[in-house]
Amino acid sequence: MALPPMPAFSPEERAQPGLLSVVLPAFNEAANLAWLLPELTRQLAGVARQLELLVVDDGSKDDTVLLVHSLIQQGLPVRLLRLSRNFGKEAALTAGLDAAEGDVVLTMDSDGQHPIATVMQMLPAWREGFDVVYGVQTGRRESQSAARRGYTKFFYWLMQRDSRFELPSDAGDFRLLDRRVVLALRSLPERARYMKGLFAWVGFKSKAIEFVPDARAHGETTFDFMRLMSLAVVGLTAFSKVPLRMVSMLGFVVSIASGVFGCWIILEKALFGNPISGFATLAASITFLAGVQLLCLGIIAEYLGRVFDEVKQRPLYLVQELTPPLDAPEEV
Ligand code: UDP
Ligand code: MG
Repeated sequence: MALPPMPAFSPEERAQPGLLSVVLPAFNEAANLAWLLPELTRQLAGVARQLELLVVDDGSKDDTVLLVHSLIQQGLPVRLLRLSRNFGKEAALTAGLDAAEGDVVLTMDSDGQHPIATVMQMLPAWREGFDVVYGVQTGRRESQSAARRGYTKFFYWLMQRDSRFELPSDAGDFRLLDRRVVLALRSLPERARYMKGLFAWVGFKSKAIEFVPDARAHGETTFDFMRLMSLAVVGLTAFSKVPLRMVSMLGFVVSIASGVFGCWIILEKALFGNPISGFATLAASITFLAGVQLLCLGIIAEYLGRVFDEVKQRPLYLVQELTPPLDAPEEV
């Protein structure tokens, strides 16, 4: 079934959007939101007729919810979407995109690492006609270890093997999305939320804008190396069949090699009368092949796990509380 074409905004409508939504996934970010939300309200006033700052509370243990409620009381254009527990950033972002009402939707971190000045560069690009404007981090590579850079390179190489869409490296979840891109994202039913991949998958006219991330004002990052690795596995199994193909290729190569080796032993015996020996060779090849087989099983199991998650059809997140949409400003 083909989806109907997504309606586009006219240049006049793009000149000043009716409603700009900012989706802010937050996990224990009270200290950061306390300054970020007033700052966003101040700096983004006037870029759209109306502003909606949608904080997605991802099961915070601190005062995030209290703080957001008190800012709403003070009259800031803030809405709260509170999930029933911590579902992870990818699910929180999905929830925010599902609930955002805006004609343009901006996704940014709640820790203040995504500069508001960059948002001011993104909006003109949307006005020019770009549907996706995404931030690309600069100055990140230098601060990472060589091993980490190696993994990252290998990951992107694998991801790019059989895809028709480009997955920009160093791009993240700092993006300005046109309404129709948000609708396209909502139409994706999968549970494996590798948002960066999904953003790239939907396509549309996109533009990159470079930015230097600010330092985290309060708290610490929750994405350590293991978390990033597991996100990479989700991304790979959801977007690429290359690892599976590599398993078949490996099986093929090992079979040929062992066939050649077998022939060599027979010939050696027939031509030169060498006795068939080599316990060490036997032991080494059995353990080597056992290792290769377990590795391949592991790769297949990752895909099976993906299928398991998809067939369960559980919701991606559960909402505990959602404050109503803000009142539209009075027409003058
Ligand atoms: N975040 C979230 N749920 C989580 C972990 C993080 O919503 O389980 C939010 C967090 O509050 C922040 C954003 O995701 O707004 C990015 O997180 P973080 O700063 O820890 O990651 P990094 O900037 O190091 O990639
Ligand atoms: Mg951060």
